[in-house]
Amino acid sequence: MSGEQSQSSSNQKHYDVVIIGSGPAGYTAGVYTSRARLSTLIISGTLPGGQLMTTSEVENYPGFPTGIFGPELMMNMRQQAERFGGKVVDDEVTKVDFKKRPFTITTHSETYSAEAVIVCTGASPRKLGIPAEQQFSGRGVSYCATCDGPFFKDEDIVVVGGGDTAIEEATFLTKFGKSVKIVHRRESLRASKILQDKALENPKIEFLWNNVVSDIKGDKKVATVLVKDINSGIEKSITAGGLFVAIGHEPNTAIFQGQLRLDDKGYVVLKDHTRTSVEGVFAAGDVHDHRYRQAVTAAGFGCMAAIDVERWLSEQKTTKN
Ligand code: NAP
Repeated sequence: MSGEQSQSSSNQKHYDVVIIGSGPAGYTAGVYTSRARLSTLIISGTLPGGQLMTTSEVENYPGFPTGIFGPELMMNMRQQAERFGGKVVDDEVTKVDFKKRPFTITTHSETYSAEAVIVCTGASPRKLGIPAEQQFSGRGVSYCATCDGPFFKDEDIVVVGGGDTAIEEATFLTKFGKSVKIVHRRESLRASKILQDKALENPKIEFLWNNVVSDIKGDKKVATVLVKDINSGIEKSITAGGLFVAIGHEPNTAIFQGQLRLDDKGYVVLKDHTRTSVEGVFAAGDVHDHRYRQAVTAAGFGCMAAIDVERWLSEQKTTKN
């Protein structure tokens, strides 16, 4: 546990803590560990800053009464982690070895070792997989109603999916939108009965059963969503300013297969708050949390993991001495 290492050279390969991932969980963990004078490396991953880098304005992160743009919020968090000596590298982890200590973390360009690791690789929204989806992402196509719903005031909105998220988000979106159409690929919902009943009774919600989204049209932003009936093959076009894709998330845990205990959906399984199945490896944020998935909750989990790491490292030191 070498606080003095935090000031060491740029070719440092061994750290007290390596944080994998740079969303709100990763950067917050980095603020706490580096401020606790633990030498800290944050490996940012393929999308430095995480999911908020693809969001426009964030209105629900406390401390910003007039809102803040997602990328600006993440740059602020990064600078805050660096301010206390945390080092951030823009690289992607390709392999980890948590079987022996110190742990080994390999990226495209380097191999690092660490006394403790915090996994903050997040989750990615499942995509529809149609070409126009990427083109309109952040320009009418959204993956988070809580984040973006208020930007669609008095618009016609389409929601895709039939699970709890889709139904909950569709209901939430009726607070803002003129109308909400739920496009679902089957004729029954996966969502819990209580959410279903609420949505079925909501006069602003209409269901398009056995349909899939086949294309999105618009100029600067989404204007029309094309849906296709999977039985008849008939395509029709729906006027809509927003398309919310709520077909599930996939945790970014491929590199941890065989290293950490994952649940049947691939999320990291935790015990005692932030501890994974490997002693010394902790996790925070959407990589284990599929319930809340908010920037502020991820940041909170990042803080918790950092405090747990700090305590665990000092326990190790006491045991060794
Ligand atoms: P989910 O339960 O996996 O549901 C995903 C939905 O999207 C399903 O209806 C699925 O259709 C559909 N879908 C998947 N891939 C698709 C594709 N390529 N094209 C079109 N549709 C597709 O995901 P979720 O709704 O995000 O929920 C995740 C977990 O969080 C669940 O355990 C859920 O219970 C929980 N959750 C709970 C609450 C709550 O309790 N209030 C709120 C939100 C989430 P099929 O049904 O045909 O498979």
